[in-house]
Amino acid sequence: MANKQLLENISSVYKRISHAAMRAGRNPEDIKLITVTKTVSIELIREAIDAGLRVFGESRVQEAKDKITELRSQITDSNIEWHLIGHLQKNKAKMAVELFDLIHSVDSIELAEAINKHAEKMNKIQKIIIQVKLSFETTKYGILKDNLISLLLHVSSMKNLSVKGLMTIPPFFDDPEMARPYFRELRTLRDETSAKGFKLPELSMGMTNDFEIAIEEGATMVRIGTAIFGERRN
Ligand SMILES: *Cc1c(COP(=O)(O)O)cnc(C)c1O
Repeated sequence: MANKQLLENISSVYKRISHAAMRAGRNPEDIKLITVTKTVSIELIREAIDAGLRVFGESRVQEAKDKITELRSQITDSNIEWHLIGHLQKNKAKMAVELFDLIHSVDSIELAEAINKHAEKMNKIQKIIIQVKLSFETTKYGILKDNLISLLLHVSSMKNLSVKGLMTIPPFFDDPEMARPYFRELRTLRDETSAKGFKLPELSMGMTNDFEIAIEEGATMVRIGTAIFGERRN
């Protein structure tokens, strides 16, 4: 039986994405919904796939491996994409390259090197996004703005990496409007970096609490869990 609540949530999220895009004079199709499935059961992910969702984000490599392996044994749909949105440790780089279409959380030269090395062995061009840390109260992870160009220069010499854009996680605010300056800062940083010759089309920013603001500020990928599956229990 179709999960009515899930279908309602998905359609509400799509509507909110469209409205935010239109407010900003943008095409809603330029915003990709990444459905965040961390802690979500395989059964519920299957329902999300049945409802038409195709792009999923996980934050832990091992949890993702278990789910992706199981789902791939059940479903053969080559349009399903898995993205890593959480922190990646170098010693898990090999597994990450095996599993993910896009890694949003590259934040050091050493990590980029590890990913590149395994991608080369697997004969894969690994798509990555650079995670930027724009505030000190937010996460532990992300490269500082001042080190971005240096990282991009290093990465541009790594033949099995393809850099697609930038990602950030602002601090959590009850009032999502407070997150706007962080999203704007990431877009500005992207524009400045593009002017120096680095092509970075994707801006991965915005979660359940603040995705509409992120879209108004230029997000091309929003990472949404709670608004689709409800509150996580753990
Ligand atoms: C959990 C998580 C999300 C989704 O958060 P929600 O508030 O549930 O939408 C997005 N991005 C990252 C990096 C996450 O860890």
